[in-house]
Amino acid sequence: MEDDGLHGNDDTRCFILSTLAGQRSSRTACVLCHQSLLVFDRYPLLDGTFFLTPIQHAKSAVPVRVEGRQQYLAAVCMGCLEGWSVSLRCAFCNARWNGSALILGTMYSFDIFAAMPCCENRLKCSRCEAIVIPPDQRLSFFSDYSRTHACPSCGHVDHHFVKPLTSFVRDDRQAW
Ligand SMILES: [Zn+2]
Ligand SMILES: [Zn+2]
Ligand SMILES: [Zn+2]
Repeated sequence: MEDDGLHGNDDTRCFILSTLAGQRSSRTACVLCHQSLLVFDRYPLLDGTFFLTPIQHAKSAVPVRVEGRQQYLAAVCMGCLEGWSVSLRCAFCNARWNGSALILGTMYSFDIFAAMPCCENRLKCSRCEAIVIPPDQRLSFFSDYSRTHACPSCGHVDHHFVKPLTSFVRDDRQAW
């Protein structure tokens, strides 16, 4: 995945390590299979990937403030990115969510479940369900889907495209 939102630099590493140190932990957990993941102090930071999202997908996601916005630092393990442990399908269109193109061991600054909307249901307003952007109008960056937009129908400003994990049907392949 090519994007503005991939951060594999030293600032990112320090941000993650200090966030976890604040939790007195060197571990995180996958938001899908809840497997505990050890976080290393150099790249690759974990056997999976970190990402920032405006909604707390699981208890293991740590609240952080980034550029004045409330975000959560969350992780998905490699097994779930590849679909070996937990595989996700869109609850609206049945398309499989595929995280295998994501780079392991680093952090994306956007919600990785929202970055590639598979159908127009993912482009609907969180309040009135009107389409916020037409499906044929692609936003420039994957991270744009995690940002707030004003609904053209009701005016509600929200991160409309970041949907809860209940917008997916999960298939647990492997019990941990
Ligand atoms: Zn997992
Ligand atoms: Zn879909
Ligand atoms: Zn609306």
